[in-house]
Amino acid sequence: MSGGETVLVTGGSGYIGGWCVASLLQRGYVVRTTVRDLAKEAAVRASLAKLVDPGNRLSFHAANLTSDDGWDAAVEGCDYVLHVASPLGVSDPKDPNDLIVPAREGAKRAIAAAVKAKVKRVVMTSSVAATNRGELGSDWTADETVWTDPAMPKLSVYAKSKTLAERAAWDLIHTSSGHTTLATVNPALVLGPVTSDDFSESVQVVERLLSGRVPGLPRLGFNVVDVRDVADLHIRAMTDEKAAGERFIAAGNYAWMADIAELLRARLGAGAAKVPTRKVPDFVIRLAGLFDKDLGSVTPGLGHRHDFSHDKAERILGWKPRPLEETILDCANSLIATGAV
Ligand code: NAP
Repeated sequence: MSGGETVLVTGGSGYIGGWCVASLLQRGYVVRTTVRDLAKEAAVRASLAKLVDPGNRLSFHAANLTSDDGWDAAVEGCDYVLHVASPLGVSDPKDPNDLIVPAREGAKRAIAAAVKAKVKRVVMTSSVAATNRGELGSDWTADETVWTDPAMPKLSVYAKSKTLAERAAWDLIHTSSGHTTLATVNPALVLGPVTSDDFSESVQVVERLLSGRVPGLPRLGFNVVDVRDVADLHIRAMTDEKAAGERFIAAGNYAWMADIAELLRARLGAGAAKVPTRKVPDFVIRLAGLFDKDLGSVTPGLGHRHDFSHDKAERILGWKPRPLEETILDCANSLIATGAV
């Protein structure tokens, strides 16, 4: 428990940010959160109310990753910062800077404000997109020693934005003379319960299967990690002395799309009536990838297992991901409960 320490979570309106806010409140911390627009406060409070009663321990500050305004005031007096906010982008935007600039410059703004306010530690949400070996046509496992090459062919703009943002964060900490330390949490595909129908793009993997919006199952797989475990790892990385200066991959079990579909069909009954059973042959996806840029970027990895190891988080911080089944089923049931599918 916290002893009343104050934590700023950037992006409390987001999926991971919201669960970080809830987990901190459950553990007794005083929590501030930034949102781009204070008009979101009521909706965020309504979502959080399903998980915890914040009492008077939660407050909201306006701050945008693309502007200097509001960051110093949000961080002033905080013991820790969890810098979670960053734009997601499954599809590449026309202008890569639409993702890269807010991710990288926003990280610099949040961390510079934290250093100035002398917070003890910043934990930044990076991604396994920043720990990618890049050998798309083979199987591999990556750990925290791997850094994505931002010049890699076929790298998504999102992966580039996360890599450049994390690099900028480490550069800033290494060149600052303050006593603030940095740790990063690098999640794989984040799933688990949603508390509103405004959910992260990652949850679309389950939402599209349930709503039958994917015609078949390509030979694609992911390390899945539960949003509750991601929030827990942020807090462990925030409070454990050994986490200073370290990256931690947050990845759970590996699952192919077909495994996730099978689990939904086996356990959800009528709720999974639209989940496809048909496997799509690789050549069909490759053909479609000639016309669809987003598909084109995944075709070289079809059938290959790109795994991310969470050994370091387990060894140093005692973190353990929960079983895949619990994450997928809680995700699916919450999507059904919120009316999203
Ligand atoms: P999300 O639900 O879309 O949340 C993104 C958050 O970032 C929202 O609070 C959003 O605020 C905020 N944001 C975006 N652009 C902003 C800007 N210009 N200024 C201020 N805030 C801005 O996504 P998420 O899944 O929770 O992702 C949170 C973090 O986890 C990101 O850093 C993401 O890269 C990382 N991550 C996610 C996954 C995953 O599978 N979901 C995996 C690895 C890493 P608004 O509500 O105003 O849009």
